[in-house]
Amino acid sequence: MSVTETGESRRIDEREYRALCRTFAEREIAPRWAEADSAAEFPRAFYEAAAQAGFVGVTFPPALGGAGLGCTEEAVFLEEASRVNPNFAVAILVQYVAGSVLARFGTAEQRRLAADNAAGKCLLALTLTEPGAGNDIQAVATTARRDGDAWVLNGLKAFITLGGVADVLLVLARTDSDRGRAGMTFFAVDRDTPGIVTTKMGTWVNRPAPTYKVAFDDARVPDTRRLTAGFRELMEAFNRERILVAARWLGHMQHALDWAVRYARERHQFGRPIGSYQSIAFQLAQAHVDVEATRRLTYHAARRWDDGVPLAELILDVSSAKLFATQAVVRVTQTALHVAGGWGVTDELPAMRMALDALVAPVTVGSWEIQLRAIARRMGLPCD
Ligand SMILES: Cc1cc2nc3c(=O)[nH]c(=O)nc-3n(C[C@H](O)[C@H](O)[C@H](O)COP(=O)(O)OP(=O)(O)OC[C@H]3O[C@@H](n4cnc5c(N)ncnc54)[C@H](O)[C@@H]3O)c2cc1C
Repeated sequence: MSVTETGESRRIDEREYRALCRTFAEREIAPRWAEADSAAEFPRAFYEAAAQAGFVGVTFPPALGGAGLGCTEEAVFLEEASRVNPNFAVAILVQYVAGSVLARFGTAEQRRLAADNAAGKCLLALTLTEPGAGNDIQAVATTARRDGDAWVLNGLKAFITLGGVADVLLVLARTDSDRGRAGMTFFAVDRDTPGIVTTKMGTWVNRPAPTYKVAFDDARVPDTRRLTAGFRELMEAFNRERILVAARWLGHMQHALDWAVRYARERHQFGRPIGSYQSIAFQLAQAHVDVEATRRLTYHAARRWDDGVPLAELILDVSSAKLFATQAVVRVTQTALHVAGGWGVTDELPAMRMALDALVAPVTVGSWEIQLRAIARRMGLPCD
């Protein structure tokens, strides 16, 4: 059973849903991904195809064009998509998190943006991080100043996935500099608003879902685009995102392991498959345990989220899943790289690319240290 954004519940067979996701990923994403990767541009057609197939707005109620499902189904889609390509998965992950904030906390007008998002007509970007506000998101310095029936935004955001191609940016800004976290609010801002300039960042990862710097210079946003959501809702969104991030890396490590096992069976040295050497086989067996442990932690957290377990209680599950997944994906992809030998670092095999993509896992959406701190605090330790 899954719970939707409106609290309605719906039943769906998880195996059937997974089969649908896998078919979509293999048919729609796999054959066209290499081209998008070398262009280092996000192919909007992929988002539109995912929306048309019903994989965007998964948790929105049917009135918003959603499927009325839950976090578990979002995780299933991201896992399956990530098995084919982790960068497509991250673009959809951003839609899930930003779309959910609009669908849950938006006004009627703002919820229409969520409906457009589910229909493939409104690509979203989650616009939180700043040069001075990474893990410490309370340090956000972008300001929103009231001016008549509008707000005037000034500041600089960084690392915004799809920031230069999204239709609407979900921006976290400070409306009151004296009220700490209580003075923070979300705005749903049209990217083509005068005063907004986006610049693509050069990164070694996520090439087809690039990140951007987004500068706001007296960008006027109508008051109707100010959400009631603030810091509390942001924390909820972050925790949901962490489960989805774990699912994304689960698909990635499964893909790396499947590839490495095939390679170890096919590659012969000294007249035998390299997988017949215990030292190689044991590394792959160890990687299998990493994958299965991640799967259990991730879906345990997702199902409890859908069961409505209070956030304070759920944090232990969420942070454990996120921490383990982001550590395991580095181990598993390093194993795949090792098994591939010297050929692993060539562009004839996918091993190096898989390992490179995984390197960002431990530092985004709350780094290892932030997850460990959350776990320690829930254990009753006065950890700072
Ligand atoms: C590819 C990519 C895509 C991204 N997409 C988005 C996006 O779409 N939207 C968005 O808003 N952001 C996005 N981000 C930003 C991402 O979430 C931040 O990079 C992340 O929050 C880390 O911030 P930072 O790089 O400033 O690191 P910092 O916060 O400066 O951390 C640096 C180091 O210090 C450690 N550290 C920090 N605080 C503590 C502490 N209290 N205790 C112990 N150690 C600590 C960290 O663990 C880390 O090792 C993206 C980043 C990347 C790389």
